[in-house]
Amino acid sequence: MLNRFALIVLMVFAITNVFSQKYKKIHEKAVLVDTHNDFPSASIEKKVSFDSDLRGVTHSDLARMRRGGVDVQVFSIFCGPEQQQPYAFANREIDSVYEWVRRNPTRMVMVKTPLELQRAIKEKKLAAMLGVEGGHMIEDKIENLEKLYVRGARYLTLTWNNSTSWATSALDETTKGDSLPHKGLTDLGKKIIERMNELGMLIDVSHNGEQTFWDAINLTKKPVIASHSSVWAFCHHRRNLKDDQIKAIAKNGGVIHLNFYAGFLDSTYEKKANDFGARHKSEVDSMIARGTQPNYARIMTMEKHKDEVESMRPPLSLLLDHLDYIVKLVGIDYVGLGSDFDGIEAGPKELNGVQDFPLITKALRERGYGKKEIRKILGENFLRVFKANQLESN
Ligand SMILES: [Zn+2]
Repeated sequence: MLNRFALIVLMVFAITNVFSQKYKKIHEKAVLVDTHNDFPSASIEKKVSFDSDLRGVTHSDLARMRRGGVDVQVFSIFCGPEQQQPYAFANREIDSVYEWVRRNPTRMVMVKTPLELQRAIKEKKLAAMLGVEGGHMIEDKIENLEKLYVRGARYLTLTWNNSTSWATSALDETTKGDSLPHKGLTDLGKKIIERMNELGMLIDVSHNGEQTFWDAINLTKKPVIASHSSVWAFCHHRRNLKDDQIKAIAKNGGVIHLNFYAGFLDSTYEKKANDFGARHKSEVDSMIARGTQPNYARIMTMEKHKDEVESMRPPLSLLLDHLDYIVKLVGIDYVGLGSDFDGIEAGPKELNGVQDFPLITKALRERGYGKKEIRKILGENFLRVFKANQLESN
């Protein structure tokens, strides 16, 4: 009896071991692209640098990114609408990414083209890319868009939560409705889409109002991305994409990069977070009074109360449910990852930072995804869109 028991234990151990070796190998070999990480803003608010050891301080740092198998990181260049001179601010954030690259030439490199991206992967360097999160940063000037493109920005999120004079946001379209002076893209907005297509700059529809989304997707001649959005069917949040939007992105050849934020994955999270906010209002307010961006005042307060937040986080399986849903609705070619790390206070349980990306590959294996499918999800789908936008450009 004992021998048979021992044999079974040994077999289970062997199978588990083979499985774990296999997922790690798949993860290592795949090109992993994360289309949205807010570290440039977090680094300003927390006064830290990407090439330091920031365990326990941020979701990301250079060493952990390498350990998590991240090959391509699109850094989000962002400021809120309260920021004076947002174009200059965006440039300062871009300066800091260039500075990290300058200090770490053997570990990371700035990437502007698919060819440079392939070279970075070959040289085993982190490919740093830039995406500008919010049309307000171009200050209504196409020449500013062009200058940001020259500096390396390869996507523009048409709006953040705030609308611009030329595009309306999801927040404004859902809360201000008919009182908005315009809805969707204006003539300037349409010109911006055309110029982005010419330049080979990806149109990012995350944060956009539905009217802006439809105007942009009907106008663009190139595939779009949602750099950090999840699925409306699971969580009725205005930042998530409805079925007809997901189908339209697939038809356009674009990719939806899933956001890890607990509040976009789990429909019960927002209430818990609001209750938390009410309990800790004075803490948040005093940080804002000291000059912290409102978004980060909330995030940093939640980080101080880790135990309270921990119980609010959804399971990792919920992120996989969102992913499965898109695959079943439109196919394997239209989904990727846009973590939103360092712009959110909490993702699903187990995903505590960039070092935990391999757990997604493990979970994909457990759900029966094959090697080729995993490679598409982790990065190849994005690479396809990046290439398609660059073709016939420049
Ligand atoms: Zn965002």
